[in-house]
Amino acid sequence: MNHATSCIDQWITPLRPTLPDLTDRHIARLARLESDLTEILAAAPVAGAPASVRLLAVRHRLAERVRTDNHHSSSETGATRAMANALAGFVCGFHDLDLRDAVGPGHGRMILKHATEPTRRRWRTRLAGGDLVGIAATERHGGSRLQEITTRATAKPGGGWWISGEKCWVSRLTESAAFVVFFKNPEHRITAAVVEAQAPGLDRSPITPSGLAGWNWGTLALTDVPVGGKDLLGGDGGGLEVFRQHFAAFRPLVAATALGTAASAHTQVAATLTARAATGLLPRLRDTALVTLGRTHAEINAALLSAIAAMRLTASGSPHADLWSREVKAHAVDTAHRALQELPLLVGAGSFRADSALAKARADVGGLLYADGIHDSLLRSAGRTHTTPAPAEIPRLRLAADAGNLRYPAPA
Ligand SMILES: Cc1cc2nc3c(=O)[nH]c(=O)nc-3n(C[C@H](O)[C@H](O)[C@H](O)COP(=O)(O)OP(=O)(O)OC[C@H]3O[C@@H](n4cnc5c(N)ncnc54)[C@H](O)[C@@H]3O)c2cc1C
Repeated sequence: MNHATSCIDQWITPLRPTLPDLTDRHIARLARLESDLTEILAAAPVAGAPASVRLLAVRHRLAERVRTDNHHSSSETGATRAMANALAGFVCGFHDLDLRDAVGPGHGRMILKHATEPTRRRWRTRLAGGDLVGIAATERHGGSRLQEITTRATAKPGGGWWISGEKCWVSRLTESAAFVVFFKNPEHRITAAVVEAQAPGLDRSPITPSGLAGWNWGTLALTDVPVGGKDLLGGDGGGLEVFRQHFAAFRPLVAATALGTAASAHTQVAATLTARAATGLLPRLRDTALVTLGRTHAEINAALLSAIAAMRLTASGSPHADLWSREVKAHAVDTAHRALQELPLLVGAGSFRADSALAKARADVGGLLYADGIHDSLLRSAGRTHTTPAPAEIPRLRLAADAGNLRYPAPA
């Protein structure tokens, strides 16, 4: 969206007292990201090129600039870096949700965290150069049931495996330099491996999405795709743990990015109403419009702070990180989605034009209700965590429940 300078001033600066480790240096970096995004996006696009060519170019250009920058202070804690990354995501989302992969390793984080050392070293260089990594997990029976995937590995003569199966709804389908593919090993344990985009046996069938159309999206069929031990992430059978750890970090980042998109719509709608009232086009602003602006502003800020808290929990290895990331992704994306249903109504039919940034934002955030975890599944599993006692607690809970006097705090 085209009101770049207001993101930091209007949304991030007011949060500074609540983020004591957000320094002038971080703010300068975010301002640099904003101006880089504005400059690169304003550069003439290649005529007739699809959006993804432009997005990949943005990612490569920003990677170049980050390499020449002293990006992180070595004294920074992981939790501070996580906060800075959440705010960078927010800034990218503020410009356009399609820029959610403009900076950072994205799904490539799974390779950096879980690959064998030579693979990790190679990918550190490739990701720093802007290569993009996709994730291929979902299958036709339903993405919310990863345990039931049917993509399988069979032993390859001479060592290694062949992987065959079909993944659907895969984003970054044609732009990814590699995919992290989830499959079952010959012992039926879920395993993850990095598969190069050029590997033999990959077949892509793009589908046109209604939102999040920046990257290509569709089906990835795998027929006897060769995978060796060096390609495994988290070892043989370690796929579920790779998935869990990755999404504990990735979901709050997605949340912050979606909130950036909602914040941008808020800024745009508030500016439009201000201009209409100031120029007399509207005699006065109705209370209902003012209430919506006030409520959505509070909701976006509250959700952003919880996304930052979730990212910090993950970065500091908190046992609460996984639960927070599931809840925060669902809450924050729902918040952004609701704001994008309500705010465009305040400026009228113009927001329903196909070329309206508000219409695009609404459709894009709609895609995130599914991508990276469907909300009822995330919240259901969070609820299950809240109601699953530690085994050691069960005898005491049984006594208390039998006596009908379950209280908090439970009697010792
Ligand atoms: C824009 C976009 C990008 C995406 N990108 C990727 C990607 O890059 N890689 C990737 O692997 N996937 C991707 N996905 C897929 C995404 O992760 C899945 O859509 C998501 O995990 C949900 O899976 P599903 O759509 O198959 O829904 P399902 O799992 O089929 O769930 C649909 C609904 O059915 C419910 N349900 C499940 N079981 C039951 C039951 N027993 N009874 C009643 N209801 C039930 C669920 O709770 C949910 O409400 C993307 C999706 C979108 C929309």
